[in-house]
Amino acid sequence: MTTTPASDAALERFTMVIGSESREAADGRWLETMNPYTGRPWALIPRGGAADIDRAVTAAHEAFTSGPWSRMTASDRGLLMYRLAELIAANAERLADLEVRDNGKLRVEMLGQMKYLPRWFQYYGGLADKIEGSVTPIDKPNMFHYVTHEPLGVVGAITPWNSPLLLTVWKLAPAMAAGNTVVVKPSEHASVSMLALARLFDEAGFPPGVVNVVTGLGPEAGEPLVEHPLVARIAFTGGNPGGRKIYEAAARQFKRVLLELGGKSPNIVFDDADLDAAVKGVISGIFAAGGQTCMAGSRLLLHAAIHDRFLEALVARMREARLGDPNAADTDVGPVATEQQLAKVLDYIAIAEAEGARCVLGGRRSSRPGCTEGWFVEPTIFADVRNDMRVAREEVFGPILSVIRFETEEEAIAIANDTPFGLAAGVWTRDLARAMTMPKRLRAGTVWINAYRVVSFLAPFGGFKESGIGRENGQAAIMEYLETKSVFINARPGVANPFTLQ
Ligand code: NAD
Repeated sequence: MTTTPASDAALERFTMVIGSESREAADGRWLETMNPYTGRPWALIPRGGAADIDRAVTAAHEAFTSGPWSRMTASDRGLLMYRLAELIAANAERLADLEVRDNGKLRVEMLGQMKYLPRWFQYYGGLADKIEGSVTPIDKPNMFHYVTHEPLGVVGAITPWNSPLLLTVWKLAPAMAAGNTVVVKPSEHASVSMLALARLFDEAGFPPGVVNVVTGLGPEAGEPLVEHPLVARIAFTGGNPGGRKIYEAAARQFKRVLLELGGKSPNIVFDDADLDAAVKGVISGIFAAGGQTCMAGSRLLLHAAIHDRFLEALVARMREARLGDPNAADTDVGPVATEQQLAKVLDYIAIAEAEGARCVLGGRRSSRPGCTEGWFVEPTIFADVRNDMRVAREEVFGPILSVIRFETEEEAIAIANDTPFGLAAGVWTRDLARAMTMPKRLRAGTVWINAYRVVSFLAPFGGFKESGIGRENGQAAIMEYLETKSVFINARPGVANPFTLQ
């Protein structure tokens, strides 16, 4: 990504949304946003900075403290969210087109995500007026005590490029249902769909300042958002290096954080599994979306008894995979999203080879027709990987699968858990006892049995260990955006002895 002069007239320009107004960056700078399929810029987004963040946080703070949003009932907030859901459904095709152009993922995948998005606003819109407090049977005579939950204030949402709107909506919907206002800083690589979505809030009738979007780079726009004193909580999805910096900066102000970070998830296939289903599950875990999902099943743990024939079937199926235009209905694997990501993936291929892993598929940049301009990597499978190799320990975020052999269930569990991450795990087995006991033994936030890459607005999602802090989705996620308040009311005013704890 490079900066262009504002005079680059050939490219479409998108503007930020601050307090319902369309805004360029305060200092007039722009960023090119690239199309991974063509390797060329297709649009310009504002290169926002601290001044823009300050303006957006101020608008969000005003909306929270004194605007119409602050006086709205929870039921009315919910109704606005239903209206927004309808508008997203009506705009799903357009939003999907923008995401494909920005991150190169398959249109069929992005359209599926866009059609699913309204469910988050419907679910949390419905939850808005069901955030109930409680009355405590308090142990103090004459005291009435209740517990209530209140919004935090301004939430800063910082999101990645791989599923730009989906991962933003996982934050927006519960934060708004709880009554907060939000400033979103989307990924510099895929901001356009969020800029388009921001217009729909106005159309749905949300008051100004409830949702604001500032685009720009992590250090220039993301850091000032984290450090802004009027931001009460940061909800971040992204890589561990950025997550660590944000956690440290937030700690200086004792600011609350939700962190959804990286993964190195195991997909474990036992010898009693339905092998056809498992081959498809392994493919969906790592090659769908070109491996660019936090939950990618990037380590395949294969039981020794089926190792060779499973690998052969997997390689045979992946040889048929079609690479190409992410908009074409028959494309299976699109490009990786950024040029840096392409370089990183190719680096890891070299690292794996140097470590002694055996490449049985791919292992290079793609030279297929139609794939030479964009950032395509051939789907790559490494066999004979040991769990202590870097390719098995570090998140690659690309179409690279590391295959590790195991002999026993105990060994599979030990290998699966031997990672700093703990986002997800898949298990393929027909053994009921194993299916029932494995989830408890795997240190991961989500476990799929005979399935992979399933998410729902109803199902909590988040990481163990270095994969994150907090949970998104499901009822409990709304508590991430609420403070708990304890209220005592003395029915008989008067203090017996002011020098003792009452
Ligand atoms: P990234 O960390 O590079 O960037 C994510 C966002 O953070 C961007 O908006 C970026 O501008 C911003 N940012 C970066 N440094 C910052 C800083 N110091 N202060 C404030 N903001 C900063 O991540 P990415 O490359 O866009 O996305 C890929 C990563 O996201 C992968 O590691 C992946 O595993 C992770 N991810 C996690 C989940 C999950 O739910 N756990 C989901 C999707 C992606």
